[in-house]
Amino acid sequence: DHSDHNALTELDPGEQLHSAAVRTLSLAQSLSDGIRLGQLEVHYQAIVLLSDASVVGFEALVRWRHPALGLISPDEFIPLAEKTGLIHRVGEFVLQRAVADWATLRPLCRPSDGSVPFMSVNLSAPELCTPGVVQRIQACLAAHDMPPQELHIELTETIIISSVELVSHVVQGLRAMGIGVALDDFGTGYAGLDYLQTLPFSCLKIDRSFVQRLHSGERSVQIVSSALALSDMLGLSTIAEGIEDEATAQLLQQLGCTYAQGFFFGRPQLCQALVGPCGSGAHP
Ligand code: C2E
Ligand code: MG
Ligand code: MG
Ligand code: MG
Repeated sequence: DHSDHNALTELDPGEQLHSAAVRTLSLAQSLSDGIRLGQLEVHYQAIVLLSDASVVGFEALVRWRHPALGLISPDEFIPLAEKTGLIHRVGEFVLQRAVADWATLRPLCRPSDGSVPFMSVNLSAPELCTPGVVQRIQACLAAHDMPPQELHIELTETIIISSVELVSHVVQGLRAMGIGVALDDFGTGYAGLDYLQTLPFSCLKIDRSFVQRLHSGERSVQIVSSALALSDMLGLSTIAEGIEDEATAQLLQQLGCTYAQGFFFGRPQLCQALVGPCGSGAHP
């Protein structure tokens, strides 16, 4: 992956652009085969209580293990999947796998605040706007005997590219079933505040770009504090994303943030790796 990157930077800008376009086209063409051949993997990252680092849940994050190109990030292939319509197959795969793996991962959750352990799954706009999405999720939960309260769906601010009414209808449907709905990457879109006003979210995830700037000055601290206060006033739980060191974890806790997620607490890993070689349920 490093050598690929170096090879790319040795090219002139025209060649780089060409080479990136070739990669995009080739990925778009091989994604359908990749899905069919079982090349997608779901990794799980722990979400913890900041006060004692106890695991309260996991976020399911998809990866594509490409036979020639190695592990491809969702930031690269999810946009392609959205454009080609393959996102529906990707999404269905991730939901099924995450709900199936929940039986293994649930025992690793030990929320010391008495909250309900949860599995969090990202959904993109085309999936959310598919008729019957709520029933499909409900059927998947029922098939695995998973209580709806133990599933969270994460939506980003870019979700409402179509009709706010439709999205609102779906979010209400999910919440009525008892499923948690999180506003992901809060602060990175234009419409975060608008959506907080219109949609019945249960959780707000503060984007890592804000978290990672916390030590760059007082303004960053004030911005994160305001997001925490807003979330609190709306009665939502708050998860800070992208915590990479202890100092940031401590600062967030001082600022009143309850939950966190980041490399400092654990990287996204396959289910088997989280459980440990002996199925001992070792802490991630
Ligand atoms: P996201 O939902 O905001 O997920 C959090 C991202 O932050 C993940 O990137 C995770 O690996 C990364 N991350 C977590 N802790 C840290 C940290 O301490 N430092 C840094 N630098 N990064 C951290 P990942 O797995 O590459 O996913 C990227 C995005 O792709 C996700 O952002 C989500 O929007 C999307 N995505 C991932 N899986 C799915 C999926 O199954 N369906 C859909 N629709 N989108 C997905
Ligand atoms: Mg997410
Ligand atoms: Mg996020
Ligand atoms: Mg993101």
